[in-house]
Amino acid sequence: GGRTLNEVRSFARIFGVETEYGVSVTGADRACDASQTAMMMFQPIVAKARSTNTYIENGSRLYLDVGSHPEYATAEACDPMDALALDVAGEQVMHDLALGAQRRLRATHGAGSTIHVFKNNVDSAGHSFGCHENYLVRRFVPLQTIEHELLPFLITRQLFTGAGRMGESGFQITQRADFLDEAVSSATTRSRPMVNTRDEPHADPDAFRRLHVIIGDSNRSQWATMMKLATTHLVLCVIEQAGREDRESGFGRFAFADASAANHAVSRDLSGVNASFDMADGTVLHGGAVAVQERYLEAVERFVEKHPQVVASLPRTDVREVIRQWRDVVQAFRSGTSAMFADRIDWMCKRRLFEALRRRGADGISRDKLEQLDMDYHDVANGTLYVSLCRRGAMRQLVDEERAREARSMPPADTRAALRGRFIQLAESRDARYSCDWTRLSLTAPERMEMTLIDPFDASPSDQFRAMLEAME
Ligand code: ATP
Ligand code: MG
Ligand code: MG
Repeated sequence: GGRTLNEVRSFARIFGVETEYGVSVTGADRACDASQTAMMMFQPIVAKARSTNTYIENGSRLYLDVGSHPEYATAEACDPMDALALDVAGEQVMHDLALGAQRRLRATHGAGSTIHVFKNNVDSAGHSFGCHENYLVRRFVPLQTIEHELLPFLITRQLFTGAGRMGESGFQITQRADFLDEAVSSATTRSRPMVNTRDEPHADPDAFRRLHVIIGDSNRSQWATMMKLATTHLVLCVIEQAGREDRESGFGRFAFADASAANHAVSRDLSGVNASFDMADGTVLHGGAVAVQERYLEAVERFVEKHPQVVASLPRTDVREVIRQWRDVVQAFRSGTSAMFADRIDWMCKRRLFEALRRRGADGISRDKLEQLDMDYHDVANGTLYVSLCRRGAMRQLVDEERAREARSMPPADTRAALRGRFIQLAESRDARYSCDWTRLSLTAPERMEMTLIDPFDASPSDQFRAMLEAME
C-alpha cells in the first residue's frame, strides 16, 4: 500500500498547483462583466454536474467560487513534471471553456465579442488573485519552522519564478509584491498567510500536512513552474530531514528582519545582486536575491551528497539536473549573463519584449500598449504572443501539445488521482450520478456507495473501489 511506499521513499512528495484565472470581455456591443463571463464559461459544467464545483477525468478540480475567477487545481502529482503537464492541461480546459462561451456570447453581444482568460495575478482594476502551490509535508516539522525556514527561499526564488509586471514605479519581477504585504510580513509572526489557515491535509492528519504556498506568481513559463516545484521540494527535504533528526536545518539564519520589505526589494532589483537585506539577526546581507539563493543552493547540494536517496525522490525528474539548472540560473545572475534565461523566465521574457518595443518606437510606445502586450502574454483564450514565442523557440516548452492533451484526460498513474480519474471516466460514460473530493468518491446512482482515499500515494484499486466500478457497469 501507499504507506510502505512512503516509508521507502521518505522524501516522496505530493504536489498540487491551484490557478485562479482572470476573465474579461472586449469588443462586445454591450457590457458583460467578469462574473457573467465566468458563469457563461461554466454553463456546460453546470449543465452536466449541476454545480460550478467539479472534478474532471484527469482527477483535477475545476470550479468557480463566488466572484469571477475560475479556478483549476491540478490532481495530486508526485513529480513536478506531472504537475506541470496537468497545469498546462488546465490552460487548455480554460481555453476551450472560453471559446465555447465566446461563441454563445457573440450571438447576444455582437460578433466582435472576445473573451480573455488571464493566467496572471493582477487585473486591470488592481485586484490580485492567486496561484497556490500545495506540498505534502511531514507533520513532525512544526508549521512555524517550515514557514520561518522557507520564506526567505520563497521570496528570493522569484528571481527565476516571477511573472513580471509594469508597476507604478517601473518594471517589477513579481506580480504580487505590491499586494502581498500583509501575507508576507506576518508569515513569521501572527497568522499563517503563507499557508491556508485551515488545516486540511487531505491525508492522514497524524502523519501529514498540506503546505499551502500563496506567495508565488502564476507562470506561463513551463520551466518556471517545474523549477519552482522542484527546488521548493528540495528545500523542504532539507527542512524535513532536520526535523526527523531533531535539529535545526540552518535556514533560520536567512530570516529577514522585514520579510515584506525584502519582498519589495527583490521584486525591484532586476539585477538580482544589488538589493541589501536587513536580516533578523541584526546583520545586513548584500548581494540581493542571488546571495540568499546561493546559500540555499549550497545547502541543498551538500544535503543531496549526504542523502543520495533524495535523487530518487522524484520518479520522472532528474534531481541532479534540477540542481544543475538552479545553479546555472543563480550563477547567470551572479555573472551578469542572466539575459540568456529570457527564454525560460517569464519576467525576463516580457521585459525583453517591452524593451524591444520601446527601442523600436523610441518614446512613442504608450503605457496602454505595453499593458495590452502584457495581458496578451497571459491570455490562454485569445492571446497570440506567448504562442508565437513558443513557436519561434523564444520561449522553451517542456510539455508538448500532445503530452498536455494526454494529461487532460489521464490522471497521474501513481497517486490516488488515478482512482478518482477512473471513477469519473466510468461514471461519465455510464451516466452515473456521482460526486467526489480530494479524499472521497461517492456514487449516488445507480447505487449509493462511498469510499475514502486517505492516502494520496496509494493508487492501487481496493476491493471497495472495484465494487464501486462494478456497480456502474
Ligand atoms: P480553496 O481554493 O477553496 O482555498 P484549497 O486551496 O484548500 O481550497 P483546492 O483548491 O481544492 O484547495 O486544491 C487543493 C490542491 O491540493 C490540489 O492541487 C490537490 O492536488 C492538492 N492536494 C490534495 N491532497 C494533497 C495532499 N495530501 N498534499 C498536498 N497537496 C494535496
Ligand atoms: Mg483552491
Ligand atoms: Mg488554495
